Amino acid sequence: MIVTTTCIYCGVGCHLDLHIRNGIVIAVTPGKRGPGEGKLCIKGWSAHEFIHHPDRLKMPLIKENDTFREATWEEALDLIAFRLNEIKAKNGPDSLGFFSSAKATNEDNYMMQKLARAVIGTNNVDHCARLCHASTVTGLVAAFGSGAMTNSQEDVEESDVIFITGSNTSEQHPLIARRMINAVKRGAKMIIADPREIDLSEYADIYLQQHPGSDVALLNAMMYVILTENLHDQKFIDERTEGFSEFKEAVMQYAPEKVEEITGVPAEKIREAARLYGSADKASLFFSMGITQHTTGVDNVMSTANLAMLTGNVGKPGTGVNPLRGQNNVQGACDVAALPNYLPGYQSTTSPEVRAQVKEIWGVEPPLNKGLTLTEMMNTCGDDIKGIFVMGENPMISDPDLNHVEEQLKKLDFLVVIDIFMSETAMLADVVLPACSFAEKEGTFTATDRRVQRVRKAIEPLGGSMPDWWIIQELGERLGYERRFSEPSEIMDELAKMAPLYGGISHKRLESEDLRWPCRDSGDPGTHILHQERFSRGKGRFHAIEYRAPAEVPDEEYPYILTTGRLLFHWHTGTMTRRSQTLTDQVNQAFMEINPVDAETLGIVDQETVNVASRRGEIELKAQVTDRIKPGTVFIPFHYAEAAANKLTNNALDPKAKIPEYKVCAVKIRKT
Ligand code: SF4
Repeated sequence: MIVTTTCIYCGVGCHLDLHIRNGIVIAVTPGKRGPGEGKLCIKGWSAHEFIHHPDRLKMPLIKENDTFREATWEEALDLIAFRLNEIKAKNGPDSLGFFSSAKATNEDNYMMQKLARAVIGTNNVDHCARLCHASTVTGLVAAFGSGAMTNSQEDVEESDVIFITGSNTSEQHPLIARRMINAVKRGAKMIIADPREIDLSEYADIYLQQHPGSDVALLNAMMYVILTENLHDQKFIDERTEGFSEFKEAVMQYAPEKVEEITGVPAEKIREAARLYGSADKASLFFSMGITQHTTGVDNVMSTANLAMLTGNVGKPGTGVNPLRGQNNVQGACDVAALPNYLPGYQSTTSPEVRAQVKEIWGVEPPLNKGLTLTEMMNTCGDDIKGIFVMGENPMISDPDLNHVEEQLKKLDFLVVIDIFMSETAMLADVVLPACSFAEKEGTFTATDRRVQRVRKAIEPLGGSMPDWWIIQELGERLGYERRFSEPSEIMDELAKMAPLYGGISHKRLESEDLRWPCRDSGDPGTHILHQERFSRGKGRFHAIEYRAPAEVPDEEYPYILTTGRLLFHWHTGTMTRRSQTLTDQVNQAFMEINPVDAETLGIVDQETVNVASRRGEIELKAQVTDRIKPGTVFIPFHYAEAAANKLTNNALDPKAKIPEYKVCAVKIRKT
């Protein structure tokens, strides 16, 4: 038997054909349709390998005297309901926090935010988008009125110039990188700006290796050149935007010669890149966490929007500002409002009309209190926050400054984790609940280009595991909320009633149609390109952005900049990929990339074990001496619990989006 579903790893959303024999997923081959168009990357090809791993959680676990014992669902859910009620009665609903999941389906995430809002009565619900693309949502909503990728994946191949900044596309979104390479082979030009030389650089016409954290200065300097050389699109600016004169005044302070000092990029290269982007008929811009994970994350994102509007590159095929969403469903988890400041479909939590409509559908009024972000909840554990309910996240590896995270989670009165494996976070929990994997449940994921796609059940739930939406509904019932859904398609129907962006989307339509939101009613074919006639907010808004240095810069004691990221072969905290033989055979050991110049200064040779320390912690791992990384900067992938890069990272936050500055912190390095 073959069941077609959607990939669990990245936001490209390739279709996977799961091959089933005797209730076991024995292989994956590429689905013919979908964004992958019959192709997969290595993670997709091996996506079945973790499903039947012996480490899968099979029964609920309750911790007693520091040891877990197996429990029935009845007992575990009764205990959780009792403890949540107890904490709420004593400290109020806002003493509880809910961490939702970009790996779970839209239906699971919808249920999680509904549990927080309709059942408990708090807006304290968030998920790992806070750690990757919160600044994208804040920045692009301010500039365009919508925080999503403006164009569609197919569109890449129509671009004349592709500008990639802060995205290691070939490792993180391999099937989008494939389209970029196709475009280059057809004659498109490519500009890459990244402190670490990525594989795609070999296709780039211009490669800019800026210092980590200097993106605003670099983008402003490119816009300075575009303005002074009259490459801007005045008609587009006049007709479709506002705020141009204040923006122009700010940008004119950033001559490339001045910015060379801040960025480390020669002025002439900045000019070349600006001319190439500014002269293109259709220029598209792609970014990811190299832009967003900074204390200036929102400023960086708004600068990319400024550049696209300045040159009229929005609302047309082959153009746009395209944030590449990392996880399979980070777009969807945001859309359904696993965020503290929105109701489903990015609707205001304070709008009287929206609240009235939500009350009619839910039967209870949503809470008005301002919700805390994931990072704020973590920082107030033990004080404002007494209990946390986690679905499929692993903050003990994924959050910055892990020693602090561990201290904080240990201050809680009650911690519940739903997961498929015993993660580092689950080990700290009072109750652990076994969830189904993606192969064992129905639902939808929303890909990076707003494309909503079906997840289909291929095998029965393993052991005693259950789908997340079922677990949440059972808990909600014990907390006094009526049971409503017998299957996930009904949850999507309720979402469609509530969120106009999803108004025309149903599981039934998705069986035969390729739908991207906004899709407002059952006759709407969906939207491939946003902002075509007008921006979602009316006029596009230019912002005057000044360069600010990162929160922590190198000094005498900590003289190197650490930047972190992912690898092609592993995914986030490694709970799935490190249980996949094909992927661990490729690489399964932590390492630090260091430039040969720095290695020589420190007397370090390739593959030697080194100690890396920041003001927050230290780890030991192998050095990889390579000129991919520029002198003064080192790179560590964050997948490895045994040498967790996030023990070192800084939890300084962007003031608006509250995203941590994973991409820059100061470290010292020594031989062990
Ligand atoms: Fe899965 Fe992304 Fe690879 Fe496609 S590109 S197979 S969605 S990990």
